[in-house]
Amino acid sequence: MKFIGAHVSASGGVFNAPKNAHDIGATAFALFTKNQRRWEAKPLDEQTINRFKTACQHYRFNAAQILPHDSYLINLGHPEKQALDKSKHAFLDEMHRCQQLGLTLLNFHPGSHLNKISEKDSLLRVADSINQALAQTETVKAVIENTAGQGSNLGYRFEQLATIIENIDNKKRVGVCIDTCHTFVSGYDLRTTEDCEQTFNAFSDIVGFEYLSAMHLNDSKVPLGSRVDRHAPLGLGEIGWDCFQYIMEDNRFDEIPMVLETTDQSRWPFEIQQLNSWAT
Ligand SMILES: [Zn+2]
Ligand SMILES: [Zn+2]
Repeated sequence: MKFIGAHVSASGGVFNAPKNAHDIGATAFALFTKNQRRWEAKPLDEQTINRFKTACQHYRFNAAQILPHDSYLINLGHPEKQALDKSKHAFLDEMHRCQQLGLTLLNFHPGSHLNKISEKDSLLRVADSINQALAQTETVKAVIENTAGQGSNLGYRFEQLATIIENIDNKKRVGVCIDTCHTFVSGYDLRTTEDCEQTFNAFSDIVGFEYLSAMHLNDSKVPLGSRVDRHAPLGLGEIGWDCFQYIMEDNRFDEIPMVLETTDQSRWPFEIQQLNSWAT
Protein backbone atom coordinates (compact mmCIF):
# COMPACT_ATOMS: atom_id res chain seq x y z
CA MET A 1 0.00 0.00 0.00
CA LYS A 2 1.18 3.50 -0.84
CA PHE A 3 0.82 6.40 1.61
CA ILE A 4 0.65 9.65 -0.38
CA GLY A 5 0.26 13.22 0.83
CA ALA A 6 1.88 16.62 1.19
CA HIS A 7 3.71 18.85 3.63
CA VAL A 8 0.65 20.56 5.11
CA SER A 9 0.25 23.62 7.30
CA ALA A 10 0.22 23.26 11.08
CA SER A 11 -0.58 26.90 11.62
CA GLY A 12 -2.74 27.48 14.67
CA GLY A 13 -1.39 24.26 16.20
CA VAL A 14 -0.07 20.84 15.19
CA PHE A 15 -3.57 19.40 15.71
CA ASN A 16 -4.72 21.22 12.54
CA ALA A 17 -2.38 19.25 10.25
CA PRO A 18 -4.38 15.96 10.07
CA LYS A 19 -7.52 17.75 8.84
CA ASN A 20 -5.50 19.77 6.32
CA ALA A 21 -4.12 16.49 4.99
CA HIS A 22 -7.54 14.81 4.94
CA ASP A 23 -9.01 17.73 3.00
CA ILE A 24 -6.66 17.18 0.04
CA GLY A 25 -7.28 13.43 -0.11
CA ALA A 26 -3.96 12.50 1.52
CA THR A 27 -3.08 9.21 3.21
CA ALA A 28 0.24 10.65 4.49
CA PHE A 29 1.46 14.06 5.56
CA ALA A 30 4.49 16.03 6.70
CA LEU A 31 4.47 18.90 9.19
CA PHE A 32 6.68 21.11 11.32
CA THR A 33 6.07 20.61 15.04
CA LYS A 34 7.37 24.15 15.74
CA ASN A 35 8.22 27.28 13.75
CA GLN A 36 10.90 26.02 11.37
CA ARG A 37 12.70 29.36 11.15
CA ARG A 38 13.21 29.81 14.90
CA TRP A 39 15.48 28.16 17.45
CA GLU A 40 13.15 28.29 20.42
CA ALA A 41 9.60 27.03 20.79
CA LYS A 42 7.35 26.69 23.77
CA PRO A 43 7.03 23.09 24.95
CA LEU A 44 4.03 21.09 23.76
CA ASP A 45 1.32 21.07 26.42
CA GLU A 46 -0.91 18.16 27.35
CA GLN A 47 -3.94 19.60 25.59
CA THR A 48 -2.11 20.15 22.29
CA ILE A 49 -0.72 16.62 22.40
CA ASN A 50 -4.16 15.13 23.06
CA ARG A 51 -5.83 17.20 20.35
CA PHE A 52 -3.17 16.04 17.85
CA LYS A 53 -3.60 12.39 18.75
CA THR A 54 -7.40 12.64 18.59
CA ALA A 55 -7.26 14.34 15.17
CA CYS A 56 -4.89 11.66 13.83
CA GLN A 57 -7.28 8.95 15.00
CA HIS A 58 -10.32 10.74 13.62
CA TYR A 59 -8.79 11.20 10.16
CA ARG A 60 -7.12 7.75 10.25
CA PHE A 61 -3.44 8.61 10.20
CA ASN A 62 -1.03 6.44 12.14
CA ALA A 63 2.60 7.23 12.93
CA ALA A 64 3.85 5.32 9.86
CA GLN A 65 2.01 7.83 7.63
CA ILE A 66 3.36 10.99 9.28
CA LEU A 67 6.74 12.58 8.56
CA PRO A 68 7.64 15.52 10.82
CA HIS A 69 10.42 17.77 9.46
CA ASP A 70 12.90 19.58 11.71
CA SER A 71 13.92 23.26 11.69
CA TYR A 72 15.91 24.65 8.77
CA LEU A 73 18.39 26.21 11.19
CA ILE A 74 19.82 22.95 12.51
CA ASN A 75 23.26 21.88 11.19
CA LEU A 76 24.38 18.62 12.79
CA GLY A 77 27.70 18.74 10.94
CA HIS A 78 28.62 22.29 11.97
CA PRO A 79 32.40 22.94 12.08
CA GLU A 80 32.27 25.12 15.22
CA LYS A 81 31.62 23.72 18.69
CA GLN A 82 29.23 26.33 20.02
CA ALA A 83 27.04 26.33 16.93
CA LEU A 84 27.17 22.53 16.78
CA ASP A 85 26.02 22.30 20.39
CA LYS A 86 23.14 24.66 19.68
CA SER A 87 22.07 22.46 16.75
CA LYS A 88 22.37 19.25 18.76
CA HIS A 89 20.26 20.75 21.53
CA ALA A 90 17.57 21.87 19.07
CA PHE A 91 17.59 18.48 17.32
CA LEU A 92 17.08 16.64 20.58
CA ASP A 93 14.17 18.95 21.35
CA GLU A 94 12.63 18.09 17.94
CA MET A 95 13.04 14.38 18.72
CA HIS A 96 11.35 14.84 22.09
CA ARG A 97 8.45 16.71 20.51
CA CYS A 98 7.91 13.87 18.02
CA GLN A 99 8.03 11.34 20.83
CA GLN A 100 5.46 13.31 22.83
CA LEU A 101 3.14 13.39 19.82
CA GLY A 102 3.41 9.62 19.40
CA LEU A 103 5.37 9.97 16.15
CA THR A 104 8.12 7.60 15.07
CA LEU A 105 10.02 9.44 12.30
CA LEU A 106 11.95 12.73 12.15
CA ASN A 107 13.08 14.00 8.75
CA PHE A 108 16.07 16.35 8.57
CA HIS A 109 18.84 17.56 6.25
CA PRO A 110 22.21 16.15 7.35
CA GLY A 111 24.26 19.36 7.58
CA SER A 112 26.91 21.59 5.99
CA HIS A 113 30.68 21.79 6.36
CA LEU A 114 30.63 25.55 5.56
CA ASN A 115 34.03 25.15 3.85
CA LYS A 116 35.75 25.03 7.25
CA ILE A 117 36.25 21.31 7.71
CA SER A 118 36.44 18.39 5.29
CA GLU A 119 33.38 16.62 3.96
CA LYS A 120 34.36 13.48 5.83
CA ASP A 121 34.82 15.30 9.16
CA SER A 122 31.47 16.97 8.80
CA LEU A 123 29.72 13.66 7.95
CA LEU A 124 31.26 12.09 11.07
CA ARG A 125 29.95 15.00 13.14
CA VAL A 126 26.49 14.42 11.71
CA ALA A 127 26.65 10.75 12.71
CA ASP A 128 27.94 11.66 16.16
CA SER A 129 25.14 14.20 16.66
CA ILE A 130 22.53 11.61 15.62
CA ASN A 131 24.05 8.99 17.96
CA GLN A 132 23.78 11.40 20.89
CA ALA A 133 20.13 12.22 20.14
CA LEU A 134 19.22 8.53 19.73
CA ALA A 135 20.86 7.68 23.04
CA GLN A 136 18.62 10.21 24.80
CA THR A 137 15.33 9.15 23.19
CA GLU A 138 13.50 5.86 22.75
CA THR A 139 11.16 5.64 19.81
CA VAL A 140 11.91 8.10 17.02
CA LYS A 141 13.88 7.10 13.93
CA ALA A 142 16.32 9.68 12.51
CA VAL A 143 15.44 10.02 8.82
CA ILE A 144 18.23 11.66 6.84
CA GLU A 145 17.13 13.45 3.66
CA ASN A 146 19.29 13.52 0.56
CA THR A 147 19.94 17.13 -0.46
CA ALA A 148 20.33 19.15 -3.65
CA GLY A 149 24.00 19.76 -2.76
CA GLN A 150 23.61 23.52 -2.77
CA GLY A 151 26.60 25.40 -1.33
CA SER A 152 28.39 23.21 1.22
CA ASN A 153 25.32 21.09 2.07
CA LEU A 154 26.15 17.42 2.47
CA GLY A 155 24.03 14.38 1.65
CA TYR A 156 23.73 14.88 -2.10
CA ARG A 157 25.64 11.66 -2.95
CA PHE A 158 24.28 8.26 -1.90
CA GLU A 159 27.81 7.50 -0.63
CA GLN A 160 27.54 10.38 1.86
CA LEU A 161 24.27 8.97 3.24
CA ALA A 162 25.97 5.56 3.50
CA THR A 163 28.93 7.06 5.40
CA ILE A 164 26.60 8.59 7.99
CA ILE A 165 24.66 5.32 8.40
CA GLU A 166 27.88 3.29 8.75
CA ASN A 167 28.73 5.42 11.77
CA ILE A 168 25.36 5.12 13.53
CA ASP A 169 25.41 2.86 16.60
CA ASN A 170 21.76 1.75 16.48
CA LYS A 171 21.01 1.08 12.82
CA LYS A 172 17.37 0.20 13.58
CA ARG A 173 16.78 3.85 14.37
CA VAL A 174 18.25 5.46 11.27
CA GLY A 175 16.70 5.77 7.83
CA VAL A 176 16.69 7.95 4.74
CA CYS A 177 14.19 10.11 2.92
CA ILE A 178 14.80 10.38 -0.81
CA ASP A 179 13.66 13.62 -2.41
CA THR A 180 13.22 13.16 -6.17
CA CYS A 181 14.05 16.80 -6.97
CA HIS A 182 17.21 16.72 -4.85
CA THR A 183 18.23 13.38 -6.38
CA PHE A 184 17.83 14.76 -9.91
CA VAL A 185 19.59 18.09 -9.38
CA SER A 186 22.50 16.35 -7.68
CA GLY A 187 23.09 14.41 -10.89
CA TYR A 188 21.04 11.18 -10.76
CA ASP A 189 18.76 11.02 -13.79
CA LEU A 190 15.07 10.13 -13.26
CA ARG A 191 13.50 11.18 -16.56
CA THR A 192 12.79 7.75 -18.04
CA THR A 193 11.92 4.35 -16.60
CA GLU A 194 15.45 3.19 -17.48
CA ASP A 195 16.94 6.21 -15.68
CA CYS A 196 14.83 5.42 -12.60
CA GLU A 197 15.91 1.79 -12.76
CA GLN A 198 19.57 2.83 -12.83
CA THR A 199 19.30 5.49 -10.12
CA PHE A 200 17.34 3.32 -7.68
CA ASN A 201 19.61 0.35 -8.32
CA ALA A 202 22.53 2.60 -7.36
CA PHE A 203 20.60 3.62 -4.25
CA SER A 204 19.96 -0.05 -3.47
CA ASP A 205 23.65 -0.97 -3.85
CA ILE A 206 25.09 2.01 -1.96
CA VAL A 207 22.50 2.69 0.78
CA GLY A 208 19.95 -0.16 0.63
CA PHE A 209 16.14 -0.11 0.48
CA GLU A 210 15.97 -1.40 4.05
CA TYR A 211 16.86 2.17 5.09
CA LEU A 212 14.27 3.88 2.87
CA SER A 213 11.83 5.39 5.39
CA ALA A 214 10.15 8.17 3.40
CA MET A 215 10.03 9.95 0.04
CA HIS A 216 9.61 13.57 -1.00
CA LEU A 217 7.91 13.68 -4.38
CA ASN A 218 8.89 16.86 -6.23
CA ASP A 219 9.57 17.75 -9.84
CA SER A 220 12.48 20.11 -10.55
CA LYS A 221 12.50 23.59 -12.09
CA VAL A 222 16.18 23.27 -12.97
CA PRO A 223 18.14 20.76 -15.10
CA LEU A 224 19.92 17.54 -14.15
CA GLY A 225 23.01 18.10 -12.00
CA SER A 226 22.47 21.84 -11.45
CA ARG A 227 22.87 21.50 -7.65
CA VAL A 228 20.21 24.07 -6.78
CA ASP A 229 17.02 23.31 -4.90
CA ARG A 230 14.01 24.47 -6.95
CA HIS A 231 10.89 22.34 -6.67
CA ALA A 232 8.26 22.26 -9.44
CA PRO A 233 4.74 20.80 -9.60
CA LEU A 234 4.69 17.16 -10.73
CA GLY A 235 4.82 16.81 -14.51
CA LEU A 236 5.63 20.49 -15.02
CA GLY A 237 9.38 20.32 -14.36
CA GLU A 238 12.49 18.75 -15.83
CA ILE A 239 11.76 15.27 -14.42
CA GLY A 240 8.25 14.63 -15.79
CA TRP A 241 5.52 12.13 -14.88
CA ASP A 242 7.25 8.86 -15.81
CA CYS A 243 9.40 8.91 -12.68
CA PHE A 244 6.38 9.26 -10.41
CA GLN A 245 4.49 6.48 -12.21
CA TYR A 246 7.59 4.28 -11.80
CA ILE A 247 7.67 4.89 -8.04
CA MET A 248 3.93 4.26 -7.65
CA GLU A 249 4.14 0.92 -9.46
CA ASP A 250 7.17 -0.34 -7.51
CA ASN A 251 6.57 -2.15 -4.20
CA ARG A 252 9.96 -1.08 -2.77
CA PHE A 253 8.19 2.21 -2.00
CA ASP A 254 5.28 0.65 -0.05
CA GLU A 255 4.24 1.52 3.52
CA ILE A 256 6.31 4.72 3.85
CA PRO A 257 5.09 8.33 3.87
CA MET A 258 5.49 9.90 0.41
CA VAL A 259 5.09 13.62 0.62
CA LEU A 260 4.67 16.40 -1.95
CA GLU A 261 6.61 19.61 -1.37
CA THR A 262 5.58 20.96 -4.75
CA THR A 263 5.15 24.67 -5.24
CA ASP A 264 1.50 24.97 -6.32
CA GLN A 265 -0.64 23.84 -3.38
CA SER A 266 -3.84 24.19 -5.41
CA ARG A 267 -2.63 21.22 -7.50
CA TRP A 268 -2.09 18.92 -4.49
CA PRO A 269 -5.50 17.15 -4.69
CA PHE A 270 -4.91 16.51 -8.41
CA GLU A 271 -1.30 15.34 -7.90
CA ILE A 272 -2.36 12.95 -5.12
CA GLN A 273 -5.22 11.60 -7.24
CA GLN A 274 -2.92 11.08 -10.23
CA LEU A 275 -0.34 9.25 -8.09
CA ASN A 276 -3.05 7.11 -6.49
CA SER A 277 -4.35 6.07 -9.90
CA TRP A 278 -0.99 4.36 -10.55
CA ALA A 279 -0.41 3.05 -7.02
CA THR A 280 -0.18 -0.70 -6.65
ZN1 LIG B 1 12.51 17.51 0.55
ZN1 LIG C 1 14.17 20.84 -1.59
